[in-house]
Amino acid sequence: MAPISVTHLPVRHDGGPRDYSAAEAAAMALLAALGIDLSSESLIGTPGRMVRAYDEMLTPRNFDLTTFPNEEGYEQLVIERKIPFQSLCEHHMLPFLGVAHVAYLPGERILGLSKLARVVELFARRPQVQERLTQQVADWLNEHLAPKGVGVVVTAEHLCMTLRGARAVGSTTITSALKGLLLDDARAREEFFLLAGVNT
Ligand code: ZN
Repeated sequence: MAPISVTHLPVRHDGGPRDYSAAEAAAMALLAALGIDLSSESLIGTPGRMVRAYDEMLTPRNFDLTTFPNEEGYEQLVIERKIPFQSLCEHHMLPFLGVAHVAYLPGERILGLSKLARVVELFARRPQVQERLTQQVADWLNEHLAPKGVGVVVTAEHLCMTLRGARAVGSTTITSALKGLLLDDARAREEFFLLAGVNT
């Protein structure tokens, strides 16, 4: 059987196409309203840089989801550990960043390993909360790969927790999402958490 290739389109975030000049004017107004003087040479380009930074943080790269037949009948856990990601907390529009451990128990098809990192990026580069990010990665793999199980653990530092509010510097948030055998089978689940390096 030939590999199946699925190309997804860039994810848009509800409000329609981006209007960069309106965004730049709004960034300028925000900074001015906060009492920041934008007239100096070093600050004059700041609103534009803010818009370009957010634009990048909200844009995942396109990728093809290429899967292959599991010809050798491999039926143990495939796990990609410590996938780094950067996301934006949708409550404060401040970054949260960390690592994801993503695993699946193959069914009839397997996936190129780099694709696990791309799936994390797909859901990270949007206004997000960590719980939803974790769940969306698990759901997406479950749907597109039809594996026997999926496990996702995300560990992240939220700048809205460490720079403001609680100012809990060094604190991390851990979330997990399990599906199929990784949810139902205690031994498989234990193996996943052990390999992911998360103590249960
Ligand atoms: Zn926040």
